Amino acid sequence: MSPNTNITIPKKLPLLIVYNGVLLPGSTIRIPVTTVKSINLVRSRLMSGSQLTSTVIGVVTKEPDNEKSLKNLHEIGTAGVVVQVTGTNWPRPSYTLLVTGLCRFRLDSIIQEHPYPVGAVTQLDDIKEISSEGDDTQLAELITEFKEAARKLIELLDVSVPAVAKLKELVDRVPSRHLADVVAALVKATLPERLQVLDAVDIATRIRVTLPLLLRHIQRLKDVREAAGDETGNKENQIVKISRGGRNLSPDPEFEDDGEDGIAEFETKIKEANMPDDARKAALKELGRLKRMAPHMPEYSMTRNYLELMVDLPWSATVRETCNIGKARADMDADHYGMEKVKRRVLEYLAVRQLRGDLKGPILCFVGPPGVGKTSIAKSIATTLGRPYQRISLGGISDQHDIRGHRRTYIGAMPGRVIQALRNVKAKNPVLLLDEVDKLGSGIHGDPGAALLEVLDPEQNFAFTDTYLGLPFDLSQVLFVATANTLSSIPTPLMDRMEVIHVPGYTQEEKIMIGQLHLLPKQLREHGLTSDIMHVPPESIATVIGEYTREAGVRTLERKIGALCRAVAVQVAEAKPEDQAAIGEEGVKADMVVAEAEEKGDNTQQEELHKEGSQAAGDHADHHPPLINLTHLKEYLDLPVQVDAKMIHDVLGPPIFQSGLSGRVSVPGVAVGLAWTPVGGEVMVVEASRTGGDGGLTLTGQLGSVMQESAKIAMSWVRQHSFLIGLEKDFMKDGEIHMHFPAGAISKDGPSAGVTILTVLVSLLSQRCVRPDVAMTGEITLNGVVLPVGGIKEKVMAAHRAGLTTLVLPAANKKDLADISNSVLNEVEVVLVNTVEEVLQAAFEDGFSEVFDEDKDGESVSKSPMSKL
Ligand code: ADP
Repeated sequence: MSPNTNITIPKKLPLLIVYNGVLLPGSTIRIPVTTVKSINLVRSRLMSGSQLTSTVIGVVTKEPDNEKSLKNLHEIGTAGVVVQVTGTNWPRPSYTLLVTGLCRFRLDSIIQEHPYPVGAVTQLDDIKEISSEGDDTQLAELITEFKEAARKLIELLDVSVPAVAKLKELVDRVPSRHLADVVAALVKATLPERLQVLDAVDIATRIRVTLPLLLRHIQRLKDVREAAGDETGNKENQIVKISRGGRNLSPDPEFEDDGEDGIAEFETKIKEANMPDDARKAALKELGRLKRMAPHMPEYSMTRNYLELMVDLPWSATVRETCNIGKARADMDADHYGMEKVKRRVLEYLAVRQLRGDLKGPILCFVGPPGVGKTSIAKSIATTLGRPYQRISLGGISDQHDIRGHRRTYIGAMPGRVIQALRNVKAKNPVLLLDEVDKLGSGIHGDPGAALLEVLDPEQNFAFTDTYLGLPFDLSQVLFVATANTLSSIPTPLMDRMEVIHVPGYTQEEKIMIGQLHLLPKQLREHGLTSDIMHVPPESIATVIGEYTREAGVRTLERKIGALCRAVAVQVAEAKPEDQAAIGEEGVKADMVVAEAEEKGDNTQQEELHKEGSQAAGDHADHHPPLINLTHLKEYLDLPVQVDAKMIHDVLGPPIFQSGLSGRVSVPGVAVGLAWTPVGGEVMVVEASRTGGDGGLTLTGQLGSVMQESAKIAMSWVRQHSFLIGLEKDFMKDGEIHMHFPAGAISKDGPSAGVTILTVLVSLLSQRCVRPDVAMTGEITLNGVVLPVGGIKEKVMAAHRAGLTTLVLPAANKKDLADISNSVLNEVEVVLVNTVEEVLQAAFEDGFSEVFDEDKDGESVSKSPMSKL
């Protein structure tokens, strides 16, 4: 390859560090890339998607030392372009770059180290051509001598080999100043020798340095031929030797190839892995292939990765299960407050499993809003059974290969999630949590749901064949547990395999208890604090819940408690800063005393030093008891730090949610509806206003077709009963009605907003305000009948959270109230309705009873029955 003579390189170049080789201008070499920084460089500068970008990079040799820093970089480097990238992304990224050198540069300074090094550089190769007839006759002679030697080398090689033919052409064509570089890259030379060529910026010096290397190589070739006694010899082998001279850079020392040893190790591991016969045969066959491959081939790392997976998989490793129902109950109670129904169902499931002695039962699927403890109860099951646990997140997966694995022929191929999980847990009977099964997508790459079905089907899964692995693996001993936010988007065949356990949201009281008993102690532990240092009374937890969270679960609450803990940790750390060293020392001393006390069994002393919080932390191997001397700290800080409303506002900022919605429901044309979402119930303030126009109804807020129909039904009912609310027959002639459902960015659909829409219309048209404490839900018919809707429990809880006290619900939903805890029901008034008239009666301060009652006595306009509440 002839180097570009007229290139001007940028003044700043991203640097690729090589450890065992030198890139010379005009030559092309392979560089293995395995360090994090070099991988960052490849990803952010050289690849855009799957395309290669033509960026000039600086290739710099690091002088051999055992450090991984950017020290000891060779001062002169070579600017180059990457012409090919090959490699794999799994299990760890590893690429090989084919780089062609352009020109030399001097590395002036490193101006950036992360995410990859960038250097300020000065271009070195001058672009002035030197002709052999130039003024410098000495140089001209040198060039001639060099070219002759190069031709001599070519004579010794077989010109029918394309690389040699190319070299022959180069000797005549390449500008003299580059010929030395090209030849130095081809002949056998040591690293210092090649660096010497690189350092020779001056052309005469470069040729003088390279000539002996060239002559030495020629001599060596001649010796080989003489030794073989065969002038014609195997010329191909010789050219291979020559051309390999500069190309085989060994990988970065961080990931130095373990060569033969690695292969021997594989042999032992395959024997030890206790694989079924088929698998062992396949592994040995792959090992045989690996032995025959050159390490720089892309297939080499692919085959190695495959073998690593094969030996890592738990073909026959199982853990002993310890199922004790009494212990299971205690474990679940210790980790979870409340959830009685859920715990009971889980215990029943475990008991049945134990009696049957197999796993062929349905798969447990916990369904409920986020943060209600679905994942953590699944973890508890694993702990109880003494099985390893691994979560497989399915959210957003729309490619069946993510479950089934990719074909090994693709670059970056990897096994499916299930096989990967088994490799991680190192046992063939773990608890695998299939998280968010309702979020499985389906795209052009097949249906992952169908693939999952294969994984879960006991008739098939004893021989599940992952495409990457290409061999059956027995999944029959895996205990699968699933979670989902909603049942509606779980594919039906998958649903058939599952036993659904609903995990509902928590009431305010339950959240306070969970906060006090679980989240606060957990956060204290995680922040190295104890209850002696920080005290959060239940009222403060209630403030956090009311003013900073609107959720069915407790995830945000946990985060907010974490934020309060951090604030206290800072206060403690800042207390009397000049005494920090003393506090630290005292802390260490305190620790030592504890160790002594433990040895002596001296409990009193121990308790004094580490009160409950730090002892609990001791249960977790990672947490050291906090190195805080309380007596010392008390001199500077009022302990325990009281977390009150003022501190909460200081740390968490102004309240995010105002309790109650009364402020918003103070004008005609506004009412509060209740909606169900996969993340729990929501209150929704629906608004309407009148504008000029042609008398139509405009709806905004990303509504689905069912909701649009509900609006039309409501409108028809109002038209039909206009005089009941004191309207003229042609009340719409004055202008258009615009109705909006806030949170317009979220699409909404469903019939349950019918009663709310109707109430809003009536309120707007009659110019009467809806009672601010009322929330409602229910589907309506053209005749004004209110039909039952879903999600009553979540909706009631959401209304309760928002401080609404009167709930208008369809009478047919009465049965659903049984699921709601009394603590909530005692605080709200539930009005069960059969008709639209009843809704309006409840929604407006004085109701519409006069009109309706008159109507009842006189001619009947409404066909629907009236019932007193
Ligand atoms: P999900 O899987 O339902 O989204 P997680 O299991 O991740 O929720 O729970 C979120 C956090 O809330 C966890 O720290 C969990 O321990 C805690 N948590 C949820 N419910 C309870 C409960 N009933 N008792 C104690 N902690 C709980």
